[in-house]
Amino acid sequence: MTEKFTREYARSLDAKDELRKYRDEFYLNNDGVYMDGNSLGLMSKRAEQSAFDLLNSWKKYGIDGWTEGEHPWYFLSESLGEKMSELVGAKKDEVIVTGSTTVNLHHLVSTFYQPEGKRTKILADSLTFPTDIYALKAQLKLKGYDDSHLVQVQSEDGQFLKEEDIIEAMTDEIALIVLPSVLYRSGQILDMKRLTEAAHERNIKIGFDLCHSVGSIPHELHEWDVDFAFWCTYKHLNGGPGSVAALYLNEKFFGVSPGLAGWFSSDKEKQFDMDHTLTPAQTAGAFQIGTPHVLSVAPLIGALELFHEAGIENVRKKSLQLTDYMMELIEHELKDDGIVICNPKNHEQRGGHVYVEHPEAARICKALKMQKVIPDFRTPSGIRLAPVALYNSFEDVYDCVQILKTIMEEKRYNQFENERNIVS
Ligand SMILES: *Cc1c(COP(=O)(O)O)cnc(C)c1O
Repeated sequence: MTEKFTREYARSLDAKDELRKYRDEFYLNNDGVYMDGNSLGLMSKRAEQSAFDLLNSWKKYGIDGWTEGEHPWYFLSESLGEKMSELVGAKKDEVIVTGSTTVNLHHLVSTFYQPEGKRTKILADSLTFPTDIYALKAQLKLKGYDDSHLVQVQSEDGQFLKEEDIIEAMTDEIALIVLPSVLYRSGQILDMKRLTEAAHERNIKIGFDLCHSVGSIPHELHEWDVDFAFWCTYKHLNGGPGSVAALYLNEKFFGVSPGLAGWFSSDKEKQFDMDHTLTPAQTAGAFQIGTPHVLSVAPLIGALELFHEAGIENVRKKSLQLTDYMMELIEHELKDDGIVICNPKNHEQRGGHVYVEHPEAARICKALKMQKVIPDFRTPSGIRLAPVALYNSFEDVYDCVQILKTIMEEKRYNQFENERNIVS
């Protein structure tokens, strides 16, 4: 049985891996192990190519690039929204590529948070990513309410949320619910279908932040009847630093007046009429504001092709195999070193990364980086390791755990301060 914990075994898993060929599509640092694709996905050759293509269309066409060339800029946000819709289980015109995660959250909340009578509060959770909370508090303030109108469901253990607790907090004072699909630390998946049903039974609108699930797990947003969702494209989708984000708007809201309207909210046929009365697009496209950031959209053309070819179900299957394997290795090799696995063990609740804790986490991460293993540190004691289906191998996982083992056994982290870097 020791065979399982050898490099040969890792290689045998790689030999059977049906997504193996995609590894060559990416720029990997060959003598290192990248485990941070859940913070910033690596560059693919196709993403690089599509970025060059759009620079060239600017060079070649000037202003006419809006309508000429292989990827006319004027329709790009819509056509990429269509491509992305298969990753979130939406209809083609329910997704638009626009803005940033935080701006899209502001936009959706400014539209759907309509306090009325007793229903004045927003429901969120206590473990979500800070930008969501900052945006929700700012939206409350714009409508004349203070922070006491933000209800944050608490976690018993600081790692996980219970759907029962969230549902219990859906009182008749709640006007809107915004939750993450996957918690950014522990990697817990929330049951979006169940939560949406519970919210709708109580007449509350509900939206999800998909930053940590898009490109890593499949979704059925339309079938689950989710009202809205938003996500970034630079993590699991590999769109590059600051690549343009996306959002989902359930088709039942087509025609709604967008809270942060701009001329790109227009029906595309009417936009250049230059009328001072907005005719919003009858699609999710109404949630665009101004001119799209074409050069930051460009890499997504190539990046999304890879997902389309590989298939999100296959990505999910391999991702679970990788994280299963990583957890098995950690439990076998590192059980005496105080490294505790804190992500859900079952498949239904586990997102795309492994999350472990150790009191020396900050400097363990620095020691890993010195040995060219790239994790990310989450204060105060968390280490996230994300083996990514499209470009990480089982051998990468093996190397990562072996290097971590030497660092722990030889206490190589002692040479570093146990403090986070400015970006971690
Ligand atoms: C990464 C992340 C964000 C980032 O928002 P930006 O506007 O892209 O900076 C927001 N929410 C969650 C849950 C994230 O993981």
